[in-house]
Amino acid sequence: MKREDYIEWDEYFMGVALLSAKRSKDPNTQVGACIVNEERRIIGVGYNGLPKGCSDDEFPWEREGEFLDTKYPFVCHAELNAILNSTKTLKNCTLYVALFPCHECSKAIIQSGIKELVYLSDKYCGTKSDMASKRMLDAAGVKYRKLESKLEKLELSFKASDY
Ligand SMILES: [Zn+2]
Repeated sequence: MKREDYIEWDEYFMGVALLSAKRSKDPNTQVGACIVNEERRIIGVGYNGLPKGCSDDEFPWEREGEFLDTKYPFVCHAELNAILNSTKTLKNCTLYVALFPCHECSKAIIQSGIKELVYLSDKYCGTKSDMASKRMLDAAGVKYRKLESKLEKLELSFKASDY
């Protein structure tokens, strides 16, 4: 009899996105993304962070204040990083991300050729950025769906004695 409590593909790829988010230095928001092709191969991962050469210790992580004193003009979102990090063409790929993409990332998603989005939370639903995202994704024929999973948490052990 085969093992029954293995994780589904969707859970696995979302898990890779969530694990990638753990690399983020942002004190408030950690988002990861994972791009998968039609053969279920991972071809790109990313998390929110500063562009190459921009020091995590010198650039601001604030959310409030003068525009140039906040993180907003500098941080590259997880989705965009995953797209830019990808090793192959993204035509007909699926992007896994915990948070529904903002309008800027949605443009990059559409232009890259990604055809499906899978997310966990749509907490900014109804905001202007979200409305712009969905308007563009709908027009471009990019499908999106919330991950259906019975999993609430998944634990990884790094303890040698567990193996
Ligand atoms: Zn974004």
